[in-house]
Amino acid sequence: MTANPLIAAYKKPALYVALPSKGKWYDPKPKLSVDGELAVYAMSARDELITKTPDALFNGEATVALLESCCPDITNPRQMPVNDLLVVLLAIRQASYGNDLSVDIKCTDEECGHINQMAVDGNVLLSRVKENTYDTTIKLDNEFGLELTPYTIEDRTRLQIQQVKQQAIVQQLMATETQGEEKMQEQFGKTFVEIAELSVELVARCIKKVHLPDKDSEPIVEYQDIYDWLKIITKKDYEQIRERVEQLSENNIDTTFDANCAECGKDYKTNIELDIAGFFAG
Ligand SMILES: [Zn+2]
Repeated sequence: MTANPLIAAYKKPALYVALPSKGKWYDPKPKLSVDGELAVYAMSARDELITKTPDALFNGEATVALLESCCPDITNPRQMPVNDLLVVLLAIRQASYGNDLSVDIKCTDEECGHINQMAVDGNVLLSRVKENTYDTTIKLDNEFGLELTPYTIEDRTRLQIQQVKQQAIVQQLMATETQGEEKMQEQFGKTFVEIAELSVELVARCIKKVHLPDKDSEPIVEYQDIYDWLKIITKKDYEQIRERVEQLSENNIDTTFDANCAECGKDYKTNIELDIAGFFAG
């Protein structure tokens, strides 16, 4: 890992975590333990500073820097499938701050609505990671067959940047009611088209192969061919493909917990929102 003997002696894995993807889709493949788990190291002082920056984790570069530091066995974090991200971030958090995760949960009793602070065991969350069982191949009605992958961190980051850009324009549009309105609307329209095109591009990147209905022909693997084809297919076919890519990108952590309200005593089931920026708060 490192040639510096001082660093090699100091840095030891804090824990090992099973990846939902089991290491599939990475390029190159991550180095996993004999049990197929990834070594996770505690955050350094520098890493902690990264996570303390507000909204830092919505910034792809910060996420990548954190992964490079705490999961050195992943050679190229940008190409990590997004379905592994939450699990790995949870593990990094646990390696650095211990198992207890404190979350605020609102009582479901309408009259009460008390905010209960609940301690969740990170190990329990990590043990509830299920394998993604969606099929990576789909067949459209017209017999075109596709081989798919989840989105990568890089894909998702690009989409987020574009969405932030669009939000900023909407806000500007609302603020500048009179002057330059036309120009803003034009710009908004442009960003909207950009997002639509980017969405198609990102789905195209998740299509590794297209098999033609004619069984004898070679499958199509060229990105440009697939992208151009994706732009002309029907909404129904496109949505079928996009939906499966989204399903393959799900993190598969069961976050339902039994809670009890300290105020009114009601027992209820709750879904914990795992807000990435929030759970590094301390
Ligand atoms: Zn209550």
